[in-house]
Amino acid sequence: MSASPIVATVDYDRDGVQHGFLRLPYSRDDSAWGSIMTPITTVRNGDGPTALLTGGNHGDEYEGPVALFELAQAVDPAEIMGRVIIVPAMNYPAFRAGTRTSPIDRGNLNRLFPGRPDGTVTEKVAHYFDSVLLPLADVVLDIHSGGRTLDFLPFAAVHMLDDATQQARCEAAMEAFGAPYSMLLREIDSRGMYDSAAEEKGKVFVSTELGGGGTSRAATVAIARSGVRNVLRHTGIMKGAIDHRASIRLSMPGDECFILSEATGLVEPCVDLGEPLAKGAPVARVWPIERTGTAPTVYEAPMDGLLAARHFPGLIQTGDCLAVLAVAEG
Ligand code: CA
Repeated sequence: MSASPIVATVDYDRDGVQHGFLRLPYSRDDSAWGSIMTPITTVRNGDGPTALLTGGNHGDEYEGPVALFELAQAVDPAEIMGRVIIVPAMNYPAFRAGTRTSPIDRGNLNRLFPGRPDGTVTEKVAHYFDSVLLPLADVVLDIHSGGRTLDFLPFAAVHMLDDATQQARCEAAMEAFGAPYSMLLREIDSRGMYDSAAEEKGKVFVSTELGGGGTSRAATVAIARSGVRNVLRHTGIMKGAIDHRASIRLSMPGDECFILSEATGLVEPCVDLGEPLAKGAPVARVWPIERTGTAPTVYEAPMDGLLAARHFPGLIQTGDCLAVLAVAEG
């Protein structure tokens, strides 16, 4: 496969802190010979493992960018042993637009891996991470939230992997992150995900969902800020003790955790995030909005569990994700 058109203005092998860009030429109407300049920080202090820390994989999720712009500005190379590569907003055009996907090509970065060096803008970004940054990394932390349309319980997550040793290493990093909840996920459709690209390369990979609604909150930003440092300390890349926090283990074992709306209307939540649900208990009602006098559609819990995610906007359309249940691990 041919080389990436993306050029880093930082030198990954140089000691010290460098603040630069991933420069992707993008000639367009408002900028002939222009480039997309995605901010990147590298911090290196001698030999050691490499952590790749990312946010803004989806452009409308903010805990990752807040925590990583802060870390990039605050980190002291003297507290690092090895290397940290920080990209606060992976899908930078989407981040600038405040949208999940790129306004340039509607690319959902987390569905386009391994990408293409000669593809769309978003495919080129995926290809650069797949062919340049992931191979440099030992541990990868990708901070997500729910974006404008979902809101999540704050959790760090790992996937169920075929390789039990790799999964155990991922779970140890997830536990170190120290979110209030720790989630074992079975992905419905993992094709094209950054997660899968990292896992297939044998990396320790942890992701998060830390809130949502197209904004961030003080509490969820605090979780992200301590979580990134905890993961760096867990891997021996950052000096200092892990800030151990109690975390409740949950799992989302498969398809049956997801409730999709089969109606368009007004959402009435029957429970809030984190509340327990017995099988058959109402999770939410969707009221018709064309006229009064019509009964709502009631959505019931498909299993015993708790509410892990919910549709965020007040109105919903047929096919939207209404709620996600998780199961407490015994
Ligand atoms: Ca996301």
